[in-house]
Amino acid sequence: MKITVLGTAAATSMPLTFCNCDVCKQSRILGGKNIRKRSSIVINDDLLIDMGPDSINACSMYGIDAGKIKYLLQTHSHSDHFDAGHFVTRWSDYATKNLEHLDIICSKGTAIDMNHAINENEAIDLFAKEWQDDLNYGLNIVKHGDKLEIGDYEIVAIDSKHDSRVEGLIYIVTYNGKSLLYGTDLLEISDEAWNIIKNYKLDVVFLDQTYGKGYNAGGHLDAEMIEVYVSKMKEEGIIDDNSLVYATHISHEGNDIHDKMEELSTNYGYHIAYDGIKLEI
Ligand SMILES: [Zn+2]
Ligand SMILES: [Zn+2]
Ligand SMILES: [Zn+2]
Repeated sequence: MKITVLGTAAATSMPLTFCNCDVCKQSRILGGKNIRKRSSIVINDDLLIDMGPDSINACSMYGIDAGKIKYLLQTHSHSDHFDAGHFVTRWSDYATKNLEHLDIICSKGTAIDMNHAINENEAIDLFAKEWQDDLNYGLNIVKHGDKLEIGDYEIVAIDSKHDSRVEGLIYIVTYNGKSLLYGTDLLEISDEAWNIIKNYKLDVVFLDQTYGKGYNAGGHLDAEMIEVYVSKMKEEGIIDDNSLVYATHISHEGNDIHDKMEELSTNYGYHIAYDGIKLEI
């Protein structure tokens, strides 16, 4: 399994658009790993998790051919994770040629919300057969606990508790005997979520670190919760010393510049993701 990290920011970006806090100011000066695009990853060359506003340009930056994406896993439909403007360019009116078939996997609530966003751009109905034919995609609605075999992937959907209106999900993706948990945007790993996750030996884990320790303003994990979850995963044999654990979806709230965050997180057995990492497991 190959993984390319396309983006690692919460909200609009890191540094945050108009912010002049110390972390944002330092990030602008230092550049490099401190400049974060909105969170998404690509698995192999064909499975995109979250078609956010930055995801397609990030593909071009990091050597991923977006024209070869065959599977789109949407965690949810918030605007930092789904940009309808990218999706509607599949319409024949945009003169797109030779579209790969795209299988979209998401919850019902997210599909409904994505459809609203799509309708603000074009009169395309995500659920209608004629549009599915024209834009060459299929819609696979999943809910917590569902397991789906698609292509060479096995995908398991888990409730993120992040936003019940859009029924946000996190996913375990298994390919060629290797398993990855993509866990953003995540309020908590609930008991029902543990019941699923504990059946896996995870090779790679991404977890939501929107906030630093003591700064949790809701909706997401923070550094302290990741520390607890990493040690619980180790205790339960879900991860081991060879597993790669990364924090992603980083905001400026209680977090720091990349190198300082990485120094701290390694004490607790995980790393801080940055844009453009390529992993091969
Ligand atoms: Zn988000
Ligand atoms: Zn700031
Ligand atoms: Zn969100």
